[in-house]
Amino acid sequence: MEKVETVVIGAGQAGLALSRYLTAAEHEHVLLEQGQVAQRWRSERWDSFRLLTPNWQTRLPGHRYRGPAPEGFMRRDAVVRFFDEYAQSFSAPVMTDVRVRRVAPYAGRWRVWTSRGTYDAARVVVATGHYAAPRRPAFADRLASGVHQLFTRDYRSPDRLPDGAALVVGAGPSGQQVASELARSGRRVFLAVGRHRPLPRRYREQDVYWWLDRMGLLTRTIDTLENPHLAGTGPSAVLSGEPEDLDLRHLVGHGVVPLGHLRDADGTSLSFADDLLSSLVAADRHTAGFRTRVDDYVERAGLRVQPQDPAEAPIPAWALGAPTVVNTSRERIATVIWAAGYRRDYSWIAAPVFTPSGEPIQRRGITRAPGLMFLGLRFMYRRNSNFIDGVGADAAYLARRITGSELVEPAVA
Ligand SMILES: Cc1cc2nc3c(=O)[nH]c(=O)nc-3n(C[C@H](O)[C@H](O)[C@H](O)COP(=O)(O)OP(=O)(O)OC[C@H]3O[C@@H](n4cnc5c(N)ncnc54)[C@H](O)[C@@H]3O)c2cc1C
Repeated sequence: MEKVETVVIGAGQAGLALSRYLTAAEHEHVLLEQGQVAQRWRSERWDSFRLLTPNWQTRLPGHRYRGPAPEGFMRRDAVVRFFDEYAQSFSAPVMTDVRVRRVAPYAGRWRVWTSRGTYDAARVVVATGHYAAPRRPAFADRLASGVHQLFTRDYRSPDRLPDGAALVVGAGPSGQQVASELARSGRRVFLAVGRHRPLPRRYREQDVYWWLDRMGLLTRTIDTLENPHLAGTGPSAVLSGEPEDLDLRHLVGHGVVPLGHLRDADGTSLSFADDLLSSLVAADRHTAGFRTRVDDYVERAGLRVQPQDPAEAPIPAWALGAPTVVNTSRERIATVIWAAGYRRDYSWIAAPVFTPSGEPIQRRGITRAPGLMFLGLRFMYRRNSNFIDGVGADAAYLARRITGSELVEPAVA
């Protein structure tokens, strides 16, 4: 059994950002990682993946993007390199290929059972990622066995899928990006569409994230929300790391067939809700709301930027009367790709700190179980708590609570 002050579980951006502060404070800690540093960026992103946040926002405590394209969008392999360099820059104490199997209180401390031994720690920080376990409805088991099913995290490229059409379930950012890539590769693609929130890549001369940053929306804290319990439950913004916008109209332009949300599957029969139109109307309203917010801000702040015609898009014919029953054999659908969101699984943590649906009850990462903390959850404190650019602020707060001292901000390497 190894005794250590603090065990951090997970060496993604959250675990590393915290470790950066703890290392600077010379606080004894270890990061236990089931794979390699930034494992989810290595193994759960498709080949053509690009970040949706611009390079200038790829910054963590003591480390930031320094390349020639601050307005560009990093590819998957560059993201992995960025995190590798970060971990190396301060010799982060990462133990790779160590899976934590159980965490439980023991004699006023915490015991951590892993695939390679046991740790005894004064505190444990769970930084295992908000997008941990992909969701799939129970009826997926009833789909005809000849249809290949996978999650977006396992999707790599169009040529690695069986021949035939594909159904992508979920119109969030991953679902729309994957549908777009498949359609552009010449494949017939159906997209099951639910609630989603498209944003224009650029508006009034600037990237959308420039506006969100400038308007202070990314650092908005949970205390300022009317319904804090709803924080982080809405759909993620739909964008692509390409100059072209990503939304249903663009996808249809590339040949994607949009449908309502997938309600049921039985053998070769798929049934969809008759809600494509209402999802599109809600999405349009969201996009228009963003533009209005920017326009109001521009006026209030007296910025000199060109006005931009919002170009109200009419309701297209395809949104009216999309089929509600689709037969996989008839349409030659050989693959279903689930892009239906994620859940978290903390069944391995024995502490009374979870809601009935399994979400951690915490404030700024601190739970009521002394010494048990979380980091990297969506909207944990700020809107960008689970963004590369946002996790550092939450990590600084936890590090202060852990070390009991003020921190020196690490110099940016
Ligand atoms: C498809 C996608 C695209 C995204 N794009 C962007 C973007 O463009 N910009 C942006 O700012 N954010 C983006 N995000 C959000 C966020 O930056 C990522 O989800 C990021 O991976 C979160 O970092 P993390 O450290 O909190 O969690 P993770 O990266 O998930 O890291 C958690 C680590 O914990 C390890 N782990 C889990 N369980 C155990 C265990 N039991 N024992 C040991 N180790 C364990 C995992 O292997 C993993 O390495 C995106 C998210 C997704 C899913």
